[in-house]
Amino acid sequence: MKRTLRSLGFAELRGRRALVRVDYNVPLEEGEIREDSRITATLPTLRYLLEAGARPVLMSHLGRPGGHPDPALSLAPVAERLERVLEATVRFVGPADGEAALAASRELETGEVLLLENLRFLAGEKKNDPALADRLARLGDLYVEDAFGACHRAHCSIVGVPRRLHPAVAGFLVQAELEALDRLRSDTESPFVVVMGGAKIGDKIGLMEAFLGRADHILVGGAMANTFLRARGLDTGASLVEDDALDEARKLTERGGDRLELPSDVVVAASPEDGEAARVVAVDAIDEGEMALDIGPSTRSAFAGALEGSRTVFWNGPMGLFEKPAFAEGTRAVALALAEACRDGAFAVVGGGDSARAVREAGVASELSHVSTGGGAALEYLADGSLPGVDALDEAP
Ligand code: ADP
Ligand code: MG
Repeated sequence: MKRTLRSLGFAELRGRRALVRVDYNVPLEEGEIREDSRITATLPTLRYLLEAGARPVLMSHLGRPGGHPDPALSLAPVAERLERVLEATVRFVGPADGEAALAASRELETGEVLLLENLRFLAGEKKNDPALADRLARLGDLYVEDAFGACHRAHCSIVGVPRRLHPAVAGFLVQAELEALDRLRSDTESPFVVVMGGAKIGDKIGLMEAFLGRADHILVGGAMANTFLRARGLDTGASLVEDDALDEARKLTERGGDRLELPSDVVVAASPEDGEAARVVAVDAIDEGEMALDIGPSTRSAFAGALEGSRTVFWNGPMGLFEKPAFAEGTRAVALALAEACRDGAFAVVGGGDSARAVREAGVASELSHVSTGGGAALEYLADGSLPGVDALDEAP
């Protein structure tokens, strides 16, 4: 178990500068923040720190500036938005490792927050440069990790800084992630149903293997299912298939036996733009030139049936090309079935950036036990049980 922010009493926090790694990598459109859930998600940690009389110094990355300052990727608009949603003064200073930032951290008044400029303006961030870690570590008297989605990266602010600055603890977001994911790794109540989909099968095979030993059902949809169908010798037309993963898919099919469930029908079209002409076919009737872009209605009811009565669920990867309404029904059906299972007392976790967006769009995110904010990080933690950014934190005493 890792030491948590919650375990630090107000007495240990009062007056101290808490250097918090947050994930404010928000979607920007012409300099405007399109969606601010990554900012609002950090409010509980920040409010706790402010209430305790600590002085939060926040650091984050935004986009891929490539180790140089890029005004289009400044965190300045984030500072403004944070000030509005937190209802506290937010000072904003760059560069993150400069003397002005250090002075600002020391002059910060109780009740105020300091946000540092984009970490990835600095060449040493991605290289985990020791000299940069030393300079950043001066900005705090303790370290709080609240950027779960970045914890699989061995970057300076994620690994180098907490190795130098103690106590180094998990913030509220990271704590919630670890608790939910640890529960999936250990005491899963049966029936345990895993739903896998999306596109990047290569990244997800390790995780499927890890779950294969313990899950009662593994339901496979999305583009991932196409690779499995092809591995079984079916003709998948022009569907997205990962040829490099066919061997692995064959092995998993053998090991999984009946527990691995593939679609029986799919929604096909000539292209993703051709939603109007979409039709439902059995998986052995996909024509040459057609793409399978969603699971069909029989598969939706079969998957919903498997989720009904489940006690534990993990879902990663949309069931189709859900960005287009014509191919979003399968994903929506799984989201609704998960919410229903939770109403019946199941413990259900969703991981993956696109899957998380799909459950928000279906309006059921708040009904689920946990929606992970970290796509790649969540999958890696579930498969391996460790992450560089988590390993770097102090053990609970
Ligand atoms: P997550 O972010 O939840 O881990 P992925 O990134 O692996 O999920 O996959 C999401 C992407 O997969 C989406 O952009 C979706 O459109 C795409 N996708 C899902 N099913 C299909 C399909 N049958 N054909 C093409 N793309 C698909
Ligand atoms: Mg994705």
